[in-house]
Amino acid sequence: MEITFLGGCLEVGRSGILVSYKNTRILLDYGVMLNDHPEFPMPVETKKLNAVILTHAHLDHSGGIPMLYINRNPKLYTTSMTRDTAALLIKDFIKLSGQYLLFENQELEKMLRNTRTFYYREPFTVGDLEIELVDAGHIPGSAQVLVNGDKTLVYTGDFTTIKTRMLDGADTTIGDVDAVIIESTYAHEDHEPRPELEKKFVKACREVVENGGRVLVPAFSVGRSQEILCILAAHNFPYTIWLDGMAKKTLENYLSDKRFVDNVDILEKANRKTRFVKGRRERETALSEPGVIVTPAGMLKGGPALYYAPEIVEDEKSAIFLASFQIPGTPGEILLNQGRLVVDNLDKPANCIVKQFRFSGHAGRTQLHDYLRKIETNAKVFTVHGEPEMCKTLSTWAQQELGLEATAPRINDTITL
Ligand SMILES: [Zn+2]
Repeated sequence: MEITFLGGCLEVGRSGILVSYKNTRILLDYGVMLNDHPEFPMPVETKKLNAVILTHAHLDHSGGIPMLYINRNPKLYTTSMTRDTAALLIKDFIKLSGQYLLFENQELEKMLRNTRTFYYREPFTVGDLEIELVDAGHIPGSAQVLVNGDKTLVYTGDFTTIKTRMLDGADTTIGDVDAVIIESTYAHEDHEPRPELEKKFVKACREVVENGGRVLVPAFSVGRSQEILCILAAHNFPYTIWLDGMAKKTLENYLSDKRFVDNVDILEKANRKTRFVKGRRERETALSEPGVIVTPAGMLKGGPALYYAPEIVEDEKSAIFLASFQIPGTPGEILLNQGRLVVDNLDKPANCIVKQFRFSGHAGRTQLHDYLRKIETNAKVFTVHGEPEMCKTLSTWAQQELGLEATAPRINDTITL
C-alpha cells in the first residue's frame, strides 16, 4: 500500500491524502486553504481515481472535491450528515470565491449525485480496499477512516476525545493498524477544562447583558455555533439568544437526523431557546436590545457577523467573544491582539469588551498522546494538519515516548507500507 501526502502537511488547510493499493486509488479528503486566493492540494490524476472518502464537512477537508468532478465521476463516500453540511459550505464557498475556482455549482451537483453515504462502523468496499468510517467526535457526522488492504491504516481527520455538549467524543477502539495518520493542531498544549471554560463564558455573557450590553459571538456555522447554543442552554442562560447565518440551516440539519448528535435533549432545548434571525427586521431588533448574537464567520472574515460587529465594537457596554482559535492575520486575530476592527474598508478602534474562549473541537496534547498510546501495534505514525512546530512536536514525542517510527511528512512525500 502506498500513501502520498498531497496537502495539509506542516500546515492547517487543504488536507488531501492519496492511498494506492493494487489497481485501487482513493483520496482521503481534498480540501482548500482559504487565503486571499484559495489553494488546493497537489493535483491528482482523476482518470485513475476510484473514490474520495470525506472525513467531515469543513472546507479545509472538503473544498477541493468538486474539482475532481470536472469531466469525471469518482464516487464520494461519507456520512449523510457530512454530505448535507458539506453541500452548504461548498455552495457558499463557490458563491464567495467563484472567480478563483475552476468549478461551479454544476460540479457540486455532480459530486452530490455520485455520493454514497454510510453510518459509522458500516464496512464498504472500494476496489481492492475495505473501508470503515469511525466516529471522530469533532462535529456531527465527522469520521475517522479505517482503510484495509494488505496493510491497515487509520486517518483521524479532525478529532477530539473530549466530551462536548453535543458529542461524546471520538471512538478510539481502532485495534491493530500498520499506520496512523493523525492531526496535530494542538500538539503543544492542553485545552482549558470544558466545565471551567463554559462557566467563565456564560458568566461573562450574563454580566454584559445584565449591564445592558449585547454580546456578539462570531462562530463557525458548522459545529461551533450550535455548540455555543447548547452551552448557553445547559447553563439556563435566561436572556435572549439570536442565531444568524448558515448556522441556522446547520442546526436544522442536526435536528433532522439525530443519529449524529449524542446529546439530542440539549440541542432541542437550545433550539427552543434560540430566536432565528430571518431578515433585516430581526437583525435590527437583535442589535437594538441586550442579548447574545451567535453568527458566522468565526474569525469575522465575512458572514452576518460583519453586519453586527461595526456597531457593537463602538459600545463599551457590549462585547465580542471569539469562540475559537484565530488564524493570524484574520480580522478576529487583529481585533483580539490589536484592539481594532479591520474589515472591508473599515478600521475602527474597539471600545467594546473583546475576549477569546477557545471551545475547540480538536484533541489537545493529552488526547493526542492517549490516542497514540492506545494503538497496540508497532504502527508507523504520520503527523499532519498542524503548524510545522506542532507536526514535529507530535512525531518527536511518538518516537521518544512510544518508540514508534514517526514523521511529519511534507507535501508530495510518498511512502510504502
Ligand atoms: Zn474540522
